[in-house]
Amino acid sequence: MTSGNGFNTRAVHAGQAPDPTTGAVIPPLYQTTTFAQDGIGQLRNGYEYGRGTNPTRDSLQAQLAALEGAEHAFSFSSGLAAEDALIRAALRPGDHIVLGNDAYGGTYRLINRVLGDWGITNSAVDMSDLDAVEKAVASGNTRMVWVETPSNPMMKITDIAAIAGVAKQAGAVLVVDNTFATPYLQQPLSFGADVVVHSTTKYIGGHSDASGGAVVLNDAELAEKIGFIQFAVGAVSAPMEAWLTTRGLKTLGVRMDRHSSNALAIAQWLTTREEVEQVYYPGLADHPGHELAARQMRGFGGMISVSFKGGEQAARTVAESTELFTLAESLGGIESLMNYPSEMTHASVKGTELAVPENLVRLSVGIEDVEDLIEDLDKAFARL
Ligand SMILES: *Cc1c(COP(=O)(O)O)cnc(C)c1O
Repeated sequence: MTSGNGFNTRAVHAGQAPDPTTGAVIPPLYQTTTFAQDGIGQLRNGYEYGRGTNPTRDSLQAQLAALEGAEHAFSFSSGLAAEDALIRAALRPGDHIVLGNDAYGGTYRLINRVLGDWGITNSAVDMSDLDAVEKAVASGNTRMVWVETPSNPMMKITDIAAIAGVAKQAGAVLVVDNTFATPYLQQPLSFGADVVVHSTTKYIGGHSDASGGAVVLNDAELAEKIGFIQFAVGAVSAPMEAWLTTRGLKTLGVRMDRHSSNALAIAQWLTTREEVEQVYYPGLADHPGHELAARQMRGFGGMISVSFKGGEQAARTVAESTELFTLAESLGGIESLMNYPSEMTHASVKGTELAVPENLVRLSVGIEDVEDLIEDLDKAFARL
């Protein structure tokens, strides 16, 4: 890129130069698994075989690196594939991970059960409690600290810079799962994090039509190891998925502004309702992480959790009664989604210390007209 360094300018232009052959303004989708060689081992621009490299994936990776302000980005077929590659590249059997006690259920399952079998141990702590984190990393073999902020689904805010200090002192790599905030709202590397991971399936893709994950970082040595695992294991993003994700990423800033303003309006409306026990949204002034979020983030995002006085039954009724909010797993698309974490996204942590309250629903607020979304919720509340 020659000029213009604002976020939205980078989103539209980084890795997106017009096609040199035809001048196509949008870089083409290279739906190919292999590349012609001009002689044995004479590659054109280094392209050889799709699992190794593909120009469409390269353009997504350049865009992701530019948006997180990083040197290196690797894209994968899912968020969990990205996490798995990162952990296997950075750690060895016997190493210990400290992660938040309300981490994404699939991340906990990966670390606890899949990588547990490989010899990784873990402890789950409240990341907003700095003393608890210090105690947990003091065990000696902690090599990684894993933070999600805002967290899922309890919307806790963690002080990235403070945790970075603790991790550094222990010689541990600080990983921030930036899926909820996205690089538009929050730049973890600028607060001292070593690595950012994403489920690009969510806000980055933004349209609920392409699965993917990413690892973004500056450390060249670790980047080389991740690149090797990406190539040797092959959980890469397919060309079509990479192309769709690239397209989604161009409008990330515009979408996040709208997700954030819609979510704030809905969170404020929820606080006025007597059926509601508590609203978990960092944009509300009485949220315990509000001031920290205001310092660390550009906006508060599109995710809200809400608990009901009527307990599990009330939460289930609301979750099953909306029309515009679709009852479904996942989040971060342009359409509004409703989730009952205890039986859906977080079913895998039921009965563990990461279990979520049964009177809680989670909203992924889309970009529809907010009056329509509130009317939809109002109708569902009328059934309580
Ligand atoms: C969805 C999600 C993941 C896992 O990503 P997949 O693309 O589903 O593999 C990880 N972290 C968070 C915060 C998520 O929401």
